Amino acid sequence: MDNTQLAITGLQCVVCGTVYSVGQTDYVCPTCGPVGTLNALYNYHPHQYVANGTLTMWRQRDLLPLNSEPLVGLQSIGGTPLIREDALERLASALDVRGVCIKNEGLNLSGSLKDRASAMVVNYAVQYLKRNIIATASTGNAAAALACCCAAVPEAHAVIFVPASAPEGKIAQMLVFGATVLLVEGDYDTAFDLCWEACEAFGWYNRSTGINPITTEGKKTVVHEMAEQLGWQMPDVIVVSVGDGSIIGGVYKGCYELYSLGWIDKMPRLIGVQSSGSDALVYAWENNLSPTEMTPRPAETIADSISSRLPRDRAKALQAVRDSHGAFVRVPDAEILAAIPTLAQTSGVFAEPAAAATYAGAIEARKQGYIERHERILLLVTGNGLKDVHSAMQSVEHRHLTSISPTLTAVRAALQKTNLMNNDEM
Ligand SMILES: [Zn+2]
Repeated sequence: MDNTQLAITGLQCVVCGTVYSVGQTDYVCPTCGPVGTLNALYNYHPHQYVANGTLTMWRQRDLLPLNSEPLVGLQSIGGTPLIREDALERLASALDVRGVCIKNEGLNLSGSLKDRASAMVVNYAVQYLKRNIIATASTGNAAAALACCCAAVPEAHAVIFVPASAPEGKIAQMLVFGATVLLVEGDYDTAFDLCWEACEAFGWYNRSTGINPITTEGKKTVVHEMAEQLGWQMPDVIVVSVGDGSIIGGVYKGCYELYSLGWIDKMPRLIGVQSSGSDALVYAWENNLSPTEMTPRPAETIADSISSRLPRDRAKALQAVRDSHGAFVRVPDAEILAAIPTLAQTSGVFAEPAAAATYAGAIEARKQGYIERHERILLLVTGNGLKDVHSAMQSVEHRHLTSISPTLTAVRAALQKTNLMNNDEM
């Protein structure tokens, strides 16, 4: 380990509250086991706000597990656009709320919010722990992000355990970025267990979502950015799609830290959206279960990024929703698919299924009264639609695309079937 001091003062178990020193445990609470995920603690000083250079994930350095400048290959990560309310009035009227804005994480380096977590982990592993092989299990995005971040750092190499059913676009990313890719026969949970076993056996550093506390530190940087982009005026509600629960856990931690420091004046309510086919956290929330009482539920959904039988970061996810006075909602896959073109055609944002689920979830939350008409909401769009072209094509299959012969007559004939042809000039 590097001798330079980290900003982190300890790691606290979300379930039992025990505080461990950095180095005592890399992953989960030794007493609670896998459910006992850890939160990094800092010595907060209210005067800490210092803007470091351009808007990237590293801008609030004092709130991150760094002991020096981030590695040069990772310095550009983050800094994604925030689409403001005045550009999204059609979405606001469709949702019947006062205002909607979108944080478009699909424009990260590998096309998803997971770049933030992977960059933080790779930096921490290489710079602080002096470890070079970093492994992860993933439904796709976290692995693509890890492969990308390792490609950006000469000392790092990624080993990926991914279910054989992962979308081709994401697997292509992993291979192109040069990672060692192991397609596991089985689902995400099977890949996860195998990755953990391999890390123990071969001494690799495990980036897997839901057990590595450093991932949360990366994910929370999306809140630092949105707060600054919104002039520190947070929305009433942030809508986040939820699989393992790590992103919503990171969003909560980001909000909580900024609120504790007095940089924002309110905590937004967090609404977690799951697919009806993979709804373990909605079920736990409805039945008031504690994270330790949760048991696996079926996980079958087109939104591969949010498919999880027993969410690994369930303790953080439940805390995020309960402590922020938010809610969990479930939406069927058909509504998730329908949200892809609707969101794209009203905002210009092409989202993968899990990311479009935030829009479907916002509709559901509004219907159930978890969002009120006078409120401002933020949709966190976590991944780019180009990652899963197959699902995107499914969402527009009613459009019946046919080819035409290369003549103006054929163009005219084709346009007859569209509303463009009511125009006399045609
Ligand atoms: Zn514990």
